Amino acid sequence: MYKDIATPMRTKEILEKYGFSFKKSLGQNFLVDPNVLHNIVSHADITKDTGVIEVGPGIGALTEHLARQAGKVVAFEIDNRLLPVLEDTMSPYPNVTVLHQDVLKADLHQVIEEQFADFEDIVVVANLPYYITTPIIMKFLMEKARVKQLVIMMQREVADRITAVPSTKAYGSLSIAVQYYMNAEVAMIVPKTVFIPQPNVESAVLSLTRKKEAYPDVEDEDFLFTVTQGSFLHRRKTLWNNLQSSLPNGKENKELIQQAFDTAGVDPGRRGETLSIIEFIKLANALYPHFHKLKQG
Ligand code: SAM
Repeated sequence: MYKDIATPMRTKEILEKYGFSFKKSLGQNFLVDPNVLHNIVSHADITKDTGVIEVGPGIGALTEHLARQAGKVVAFEIDNRLLPVLEDTMSPYPNVTVLHQDVLKADLHQVIEEQFADFEDIVVVANLPYYITTPIIMKFLMEKARVKQLVIMMQREVADRITAVPSTKAYGSLSIAVQYYMNAEVAMIVPKTVFIPQPNVESAVLSLTRKKEAYPDVEDEDFLFTVTQGSFLHRRKTLWNNLQSSLPNGKENKELIQQAFDTAGVDPGRRGETLSIIEFIKLANALYPHFHKLKQG
């Protein structure tokens, strides 16, 4: 077993060796606590038959823990200054492949097909760059990447929003978008002190696993999320007000909106934060035909 990268001393040694300076704009906060890493990995369902995707390996602190347990690890890293570092630190782990790529621009289906043809089970494990937490999560979910679990670290506040239930302050369009696809659970809370440099906020690790129960059929997922986002346009306002303002030509088509509320059996005087995902699906499905008419008309 090699010495862990994720101790403050070894990390400083590596950073000094390569003259590496952190880029705040790339969300670079590296983990320097092996216990936290053990803990993160223990929440992921990984065996030698599992393929792991990591986003942002940094100098490889989490990557090496994953490599010890998984069959193969493929890590997306955007910062070219980290490539020689990773080549060095990952040299004991032939099952690690680093892709120099912006994960948001990656073709996930192609990467999975090319890299994980022999792997049935794929999980994502990452200490995410916090400036793009939500787009990364939504990319994996909306593109329907063949991934059975995501174990991801993010700002605690975002984790709270993702896991929130109706009629709470944190519940909103992000809670609905993620919970529509996945069961979301907080696996652990992580203090600022285990990172170099320390972030400004507390972090949390979420475990997202595929939903087993089926929701009613959704006419169009993008449209569902347009409706949920529009419903939270002004949190204090009613659905009736928010949807009139946010749907195209909403103000001119109040009757169609009213009809959709009737069809969905949802009271337009409610606020978005009180609706369950099933109610949002019913409402979006009822609005969808009218919305198309409006677009075409
Ligand atoms: N995994 C390491 C750790 O836990 O110590 C580093 C995590 S650090 C929070 C985030 C990493 O994501 C950095 O290495 C950063 O360069 C990388 N990164 C930032 N934006 C990225 C993007 N769009 N695509 C891929 N990697 C990115």
